[in-house]
Amino acid sequence: MEHILSLSYGKDSLACLGAIEELGWPLDRIVHAEVWATDTIPADLPPMVEFKKKADQVIKERWGIEVEHVRSKYTYNDCFYMVRGENKREAKSNYVGKIYGFPFRQGPWCNSRLKLTVLKKFSKGTIQYLGIAFDEPDRFHNLSETKKSPLVVAEWNEQMCRQWCEENGLLSPIYTTATRGGCWFCHNQGIEQLRILRKNYPELWKLMLKWDEDSPVTFHADGKTVHDFEKRFHAEDLKLIPTDQTFRWEMVIGELRKNQLNLFDSGLI
Ligand code: SF4
Repeated sequence: MEHILSLSYGKDSLACLGAIEELGWPLDRIVHAEVWATDTIPADLPPMVEFKKKADQVIKERWGIEVEHVRSKYTYNDCFYMVRGENKREAKSNYVGKIYGFPFRQGPWCNSRLKLTVLKKFSKGTIQYLGIAFDEPDRFHNLSETKKSPLVVAEWNEQMCRQWCEENGLLSPIYTTATRGGCWFCHNQGIEQLRILRKNYPELWKLMLKWDEDSPVTFHADGKTVHDFEKRFHAEDLKLIPTDQTFRWEMVIGELRKNQLNLFDSGLI
């Protein structure tokens, strides 16, 4: 039976390599589910793409295993524009006949279609190693006879995982810089990461705005769209948002109106 490490390049996932070594457990393959935004744009931001390359090299040299980057035949963009069919679960959905657009927060299609389906192929008749740390008991329900965590057995907590990664040159930039781990277009990311995306990667932000225009599902479950964030950041650029008060969305509209900025004419709304 093959022993496979499912690698995300996060600290717990990478530290599994150290715990496996300490426990003397077998390791045959290392698999990573790679997501692509479009046919030519990866879901990772450039610093993360670079880090993965470096980590692969370290792993190859030290463990003699080539990390297998597997991917769905679809990109995020492909799935985004697929039309929802009528199935049992969605029979009464208002979205039948429309494109998927942004994933819902609960049960997002991106995770199941672009990651889980791909990794499922490797789960049959194998032992899978998962990066669940010793101090994450709320995730222990994911473990079983065939899904094991070397970190739990070796009693490595998250802090120990981070330290091991640091000492072995395998700490991802997501822990030391503002680089985002996971897809740059993720609907779950925080405001600061969206702000950085818009500032540092305007071409990717442009694509987000295009998706936002086409999506029947709002970017955030509370109804906020990418265009709402665009207005907020634009108002921030113009120093129209008071920084000495807690942010409220009314500030964006109020301040922009007060300053008589015609955003309709400038194409920002
Ligand atoms: S990181 Fe976000 S966008 Fe990417 S697969 Fe996970 S939930 Fe979806």
